[in-house]
Amino acid sequence: MNELRSKVKALLGSSEIDLFVGYEQGTRLPRPLLAASAEDADKLIFDERCTGNLAVYLTRKDLMGGKKAGIAASYYALRSICRLIDENQLQDGATKIFALTPQGALTSLETIADVKQLLQETPAPAKQVEDAWVQEVEEMPAAERWKFWTGELAKCFKCYACRAACPMCYCTRCIVEVNRPQWLQPWAATLSNMEWQINRVMHMAGRCADCGACGAACPLGLPVHIIAHKMVQMVRQHFGEPADKGATLSTFDPSDKENFIR
Ligand code: SF4
Ligand code: SF4
Repeated sequence: MNELRSKVKALLGSSEIDLFVGYEQGTRLPRPLLAASAEDADKLIFDERCTGNLAVYLTRKDLMGGKKAGIAASYYALRSICRLIDENQLQDGATKIFALTPQGALTSLETIADVKQLLQETPAPAKQVEDAWVQEVEEMPAAERWKFWTGELAKCFKCYACRAACPMCYCTRCIVEVNRPQWLQPWAATLSNMEWQINRVMHMAGRCADCGACGAACPLGLPVHIIAHKMVQMVRQHFGEPADKGATLSTFDPSDKENFIR
């Protein structure tokens, strides 16, 4: 912890970075901290409890516009950073990335190659809760499953906190705000709420880090991260590890089975 604090202080002091995205102790759990001074840096913590996906802040133009940034990156944030570099939203080598090795040691990562190397060496966090959710929902007969999801998504009031929490939702103008043509009804109604989530998750195909931040951000506790988790499972099953294959919806491979075309 002290090691990260002193490294961040040095980076801020030498103007190598203007802002460091990290964690501080919250009331119960670690919470995000945007450190811009040595005083801020003294509040930084970074340990196995810091699992949130802070990569979401790296593409926030209101926070980052023109600033040189550093980040304390969890496993999920590392996955998102890879995608953001692949999608030209971050410049490779421009962000000072700190992460924890599987042994819990602090390490700094200079390039996307370093990030991918560490991801390969780090076991993916277990997703037993999400796997159990998917299994439970899949075992429902189709009518019951429809009832389940319409029942859950009927409660959505379109606050878009799920979108705001997601590092891959970086568009300056989201499809839900386009009104010529109007793709989605902007008001909350069950079917348009379902369209919103289906659209959101389809846009994540092959890009989602499976971090669960969308579900954690929902003020109603709607399990929208379970839809993302199922999508990640399907992409992995049909196309391999998403992080290695590009965006699933925009990558064409002549050897694709295309057995969905009937
Ligand atoms: S789990 Fe949710 S928040 Fe995380 S990357 Fe996927 S869609 Fe975005
Ligand atoms: S965070 Fe929850 S309530 Fe808000 S738009 Fe997303 S699913 Fe709906």
